[in-house]
Amino acid sequence: MESTDVQSDLKHVLKTKDEIQKRIGELAAEIDRDYEGRDLLIVGVLKGAVMVMADLARALHSHVTMDWMAVSSYGSGTQSSGVVRILKDLDTDLMGKHVLIVEDIIDSGLTLSWLKTNLESRGTASVEICTAFRKPDAAKVKIDVKYVGFDIPNEFVVGYGLDYAEKYRNLDFVGTLAPHVYE
Ligand code: 5GP
Ligand code: MG
Ligand code: MG
Repeated sequence: MESTDVQSDLKHVLKTKDEIQKRIGELAAEIDRDYEGRDLLIVGVLKGAVMVMADLARALHSHVTMDWMAVSSYGSGTQSSGVVRILKDLDTDLMGKHVLIVEDIIDSGLTLSWLKTNLESRGTASVEICTAFRKPDAAKVKIDVKYVGFDIPNEFVVGYGLDYAEKYRNLDFVGTLAPHVYE
């Protein structure tokens, strides 16, 4: 049944707006420090990373350029397969660039692992990863994530860029869905 009230679709708030904003500020300070004196290109992975890109970019004090990619990972149902197709590539030439991939969430890590290798093959000076959220399964793939907002339990979450059937991306917090939404 279609609900009109977004709040009633949620079971539990995992991270509030204030918690997220505070953590993004801390990550931005770390990134400012780590990339001091170097030009940084931040790459957002559409569409989920739109919120974290916008907040992170505004919290950074250093000069950065921004670009976007859209990828789709094939798999059965909700499981990511690691087979990735580029739907929208970067506009930027990566030769000699320091790149920071910005993601909404890492679950299996398969998509990101593929993406990191793909960008590294373009002659980058460095490629690091920043994610707003990370789930425990991400530990199964060998992927070095330098900046993690929050480690969260293995539950399906929505909000702050994350969708269920393209909805809930615009929430400024992250929460779990009430069963009536997907049952
Ligand atoms: P993986 O790390 O398994 O390759 O896939 C990560 C992608 O799956 C994320 O970028 C996101 O689009 C989606 N995803 C993974 N976990 C969740 C979740 O809990 N909620 C939502 N809405 N999307 C998720
Ligand atoms: Mg994503
Ligand atoms: Mg999605």
